[in-house]
Amino acid sequence: MSLKRILVTGGAGFLGSHLCERLVARGHDVICIDNFFTSQKSNVEHLLANKNFELIRHDVTHPLWLEVDEIYNLACPAAPGHYQYNPIKTMKTSVMGAINVLGMAKRCRAKVLQASTSEVYGDPDVHPQPESYRGNVNPIGPRACYDEGKRAAETLFFDYHRSNRVNIRVVRIFNTYGPRMHPFDGRVVSNFIRQAIAGEDITLFGDGNQSRSFCFVDDLIEGMIRMMDGPDDFVGPVNIGNPHEFTMKQLAEMVIELTGSRSKLAFKPLPADDPRQRQPDITLARTRLAWEPKVPLREGLARTIAYFRSIRLEDYRAPTPNY
Ligand code: NAD
Ligand code: UDP
Repeated sequence: MSLKRILVTGGAGFLGSHLCERLVARGHDVICIDNFFTSQKSNVEHLLANKNFELIRHDVTHPLWLEVDEIYNLACPAAPGHYQYNPIKTMKTSVMGAINVLGMAKRCRAKVLQASTSEVYGDPDVHPQPESYRGNVNPIGPRACYDEGKRAAETLFFDYHRSNRVNIRVVRIFNTYGPRMHPFDGRVVSNFIRQAIAGEDITLFGDGNQSRSFCFVDDLIEGMIRMMDGPDDFVGPVNIGNPHEFTMKQLAEMVIELTGSRSKLAFKPLPADDPRQRQPDITLARTRLAWEPKVPLREGLARTIAYFRSIRLEDYRAPTPNY
């Protein structure tokens, strides 16, 4: 395997830090750029001593001049509370960030992978969701800055591919969890674990019967790297996620059991446009990438709970007041 110069945007975030770790371990020359909007340097602190790792504070809405062989574009707030904090900036990050990395990829003839999302399917009428499903997104709702921003980024990726022959990859990531999630990001797994450990009420939005399918971070990163390393005629989009579906109530009960908590369930109003169900059809990833997730929810949650028990919450600043 040849060593490459690889740029990871959003590399200090939850997924980005695991990706950088894996790429550095393989010996690649990794450049991580991040503006630390939803993350902190401690996520990549352990990598700083490596000669093949470099950290740059930079905002992807501004152009950046680097020479690299591959780009993983992950920079974008991902938790609803984070991306709704400044929705215009979220849209700019998706769209201008995509334009900037695609321009760089075109100039350097680099391969570029977009971290897209299951949110492109919106509140889906087709279940489970195959890549051919075009989605049901409300273009003017509170989630639109993220969903439509990611849809526009996919459009840009495919137009640069068709018009300028840029070598692209697009992965649609479904809900992923694990160590280094921001404890105050407001996402369901981090909220439930933090609340259960503290013995606080578990906040269930709506009746708790809405569903998600949770993928452990190690499985996700493996799928993402396989996609980048795969054949040039398979550009995606490809779903990467764990097809085992759970209701939020089931998730809450599992977290209570695994933490041995005495927390009670507290029902809160369902946020607007909250998707009722979500489950990836991963036939394409199975056949083209020989990939499928290995870590069951119970095991992944136990590892995530151990991580949350190991950190000091005082070291984390809630990046937005919306958690
Ligand atoms: P995260 O918030 O932990 O990571 C995003 C990173 O991008 C953070 O470090 C943040 O500081 C950085 N960032 C945000 N705006 C930036 C900007 N303008 N310039 C530079 N850096 C910026 O979230 P994550 O879960 O690690 O998500 C990473 C990527 O994967 C995102 O693009 C997200 O949309 C996508 N994704 C994640 C999930 C999931 O379940 N975790 C699901 C679907 C898609
Ligand atoms: N959710 C919940 N309680 C919380 C946080 C989230 O019941 O404290 C629900 C939320 O309404 C949604 C699901 O959990 O139905 C997943 O939410 P998350 O923000 O993690 O991700 P997304 O909605 O983007 O899939």
